Amino acid sequence: YDLAHKDIRGIIKDTVTLLDTEAILHNIEIESTISEEPLWVRGVENQLKQVFINVLKNAIEAMNDGGRIQMACMLEGDRIIVRIEDYGPGIPEEQLSKIGQPFYTTKEKGTGLGLMVSYKIVDNHHGSIHVHSRVDIGTTFEIILPYSEPAE
Ligand code: ADP
Ligand code: MG
Repeated sequence: YDLAHKDIRGIIKDTVTLLDTEAILHNIEIESTISEEPLWVRGVENQLKQVFINVLKNAIEAMNDGGRIQMACMLEGDRIIVRIEDYGPGIPEEQLSKIGQPFYTTKEKGTGLGLMVSYKIVDNHHGSIHVHSRVDIGTTFEIILPYSEPAE
């Protein structure tokens, strides 16, 4: 592993750049609000990037008819919050508990592994993932990670 202090803003910008073409092809605009202060996290960059890719990709896949996805990152106290909000179909309440279980997918070609892996990675980084979803309104994923400034 390459465990180091990283400014998560760079990882988020990379993620948006990576998925922007796919989003535009689906008439989706990714709007990102990035903190003006550095958001230091101690972790494995490629793993964290994988988490943001998984969640953002799900948001894109949820918005078949196009629209806007809002991505934001900010510092709240000693926690970094990364929020990805879509205006897709939402997740019915009775299915919310299945989110992140291995092989749970509602997609024809889904693997149902993306969120399971994401939960594991975030857990290994001492963080957590929270989902708020309302049918026909949309879904918000919040990835919370501890802020960890590099020593001088
Ligand atoms: P996959 O994308 O391969 O289906 P994931 O683990 O990434 O696997 O997601 C599991 C399931 O969670 C999806 O199939 C979908 O039903 C649901 N899901 C995840 N993100 C969203 C979202 N933003 N909007 C609606 N449903 C979602
Ligand atoms: Mg997925």
